[in-house]
Amino acid sequence: MSDTTNILQDLHGRDHAYLRISLTERCNLRCTYCMPADGVPLSPKSHLMTYEEIFNIAKTFVDHGVTKIRLTGGEPLVRKDIPIILEKLATLPVELSITSNAVIIDRFIDILKANGVNKINVSLDSLDASKFKHITRRHEFQKVYDNILLLVKEGFTVKVNAVLMKGFNDNEIIDFIHFTKDLPISIRFIEFMPFDGNKWDMSKLVSYNEVMEYVNKSFPKDQIKRLQDAPNDTSKNYKIKGYKGSFAIISSVTNPFCDSCNRLRLTANGQLKNCLFSSAESDLLTTLRTGKSIEPIIQKAVQAKFKVRGGMDTLQKLQEPKLHNNNRSMITIGG
Ligand code: SAM
Ligand code: SF4
Repeated sequence: MSDTTNILQDLHGRDHAYLRISLTERCNLRCTYCMPADGVPLSPKSHLMTYEEIFNIAKTFVDHGVTKIRLTGGEPLVRKDIPIILEKLATLPVELSITSNAVIIDRFIDILKANGVNKINVSLDSLDASKFKHITRRHEFQKVYDNILLLVKEGFTVKVNAVLMKGFNDNEIIDFIHFTKDLPISIRFIEFMPFDGNKWDMSKLVSYNEVMEYVNKSFPKDQIKRLQDAPNDTSKNYKIKGYKGSFAIISSVTNPFCDSCNRLRLTANGQLKNCLFSSAESDLLTTLRTGKSIEPIIQKAVQAKFKVRGGMDTLQKLQEPKLHNNNRSMITIGG
């Protein structure tokens, strides 16, 4: 395929410069909104990408214009060969970042720094240890909390992702914002999204507007500052005047940001997904293993990308279980 062919541009004119790579389907937590109660059938090891295959696929994307790669999972740090993966990917001209639950991230500080990983997104859905246990089905609150402080101390740019669920942690929105008073982090409130097996329903979702109602009730208007969002940003960013950190809302459900979407996702078993919400997958790994070029498959997958949320362009369609349950569980996609 000629170098001038823009295989990462879709039919709606969107260029895809951001690749999220899931390294594993395994995790050391069991978040209820991400992993079904009975777990997920794991791919046999031989079906997962090796570190060489991850590098080869990533390099093809970088050759065609990808400038950002984020490693995710499952929990990317539970993968044994993560140091080699980081070293290999760090040789590519990309911004390399990671999304982690931070349970064991203290063991990786030097490796992350050595490979130029400065930006880390950490999931933390509650500041209350017993609620954390309830949502993650594990007792790891203190480790995650301490590791967030450690990452900040070590100079990483930290964003904390909190999936909001009505009646569970919406009463912590303001506590989370207060957490940014003395810490230079960004708290990102994520609208709960539907995936296979996560018992989603719209009534559990806390919307962008509802978050802002809490904020407007708790802070004087002139203290709430709307920040400039970065290009292709999925979040709407705010700050309380005088606070070191900021907060944001990721409103994939009530206010999707598909117009400026520049992301593609590669699952741990080498399937390309052109949208988080789409059940369609394109098998890059099998083709790579037969020695053929993966570029035509990438191009076809990118061109098949729907304009909005994998074709679920209305809230009604998103609420149809038969549409969103066709998709994988989040644990095997990589958020
Ligand atoms: N284990 C890592 C972590 O938790 O950060 C990385 C993988 S996790 C799948 C990536 C992100 O997806 C997390 O921030 C998590 O909160 C988010 N996520 C998982 N399921 C979700 C859902 N149903 N709705 C919204 N966000 C979800
Ligand atoms: Fe694991 Fe992250 Fe999913 Fe929680 S959200 S189960 S930490 S992959």
